[in-house]
Amino acid sequence: MLRVAQDGWLAQARALPSPHCNARPVGETISLLVIHNISLPPGQFGGGFVQQLFAGELDPHCHPYFASISSIRVSAHFLIERDGSLFQFVSCLDRAWHAGASRFGGRPECNDYSIGVELEGTDTEPYTPAQYAALIELTRALQAAYPAITPYRITGHEFIAPGRKTDPGSAFDWRGYLRALTGHLDTPHFAPTTQRSPA
Ligand SMILES: [Zn+2]
Repeated sequence: MLRVAQDGWLAQARALPSPHCNARPVGETISLLVIHNISLPPGQFGGGFVQQLFAGELDPHCHPYFASISSIRVSAHFLIERDGSLFQFVSCLDRAWHAGASRFGGRPECNDYSIGVELEGTDTEPYTPAQYAALIELTRALQAAYPAITPYRITGHEFIAPGRKTDPGSAFDWRGYLRALTGHLDTPHFAPTTQRSPA
């Protein structure tokens, strides 16, 4: 069973601390889980380039696409690769830089109060069973450590930054994921598409 330690690090994840983070607002409650996807170069898997991006060490000469993003300072708390391998870049206690301009339930600046999980993938290519298995285990560990992350407070980047972001996309099986998590057979109740705020 996965477990988040007091310091916000998960012992079972491979830790690659990123400089792209800062403190959450004082007294902030961790109360939202944001699911993303990423692949570098886009649509290609493996290679370790996402880890390099989050470390601020992506070589702009390695691929034409990298020149445009290598200086961007971004991170997420976690990355789950196609084979289910789990990496952690930022302590859950700290603020990772994954959501950008965003809003959930009327409240802006989701980075302040959320945890960001990246799935290696694209909006349209099915995620792997190993990724879902790892994501479900990770979500359970996060909910155990931060109980304010209820099923109603699990969302996708596309729903907190509509019009600007599209991940994790139509490939992500919200119904299956939430069903595995909650045990409820009827999950539309929790589905983030119904949580979308008017903003
Ligand atoms: Zn995203």
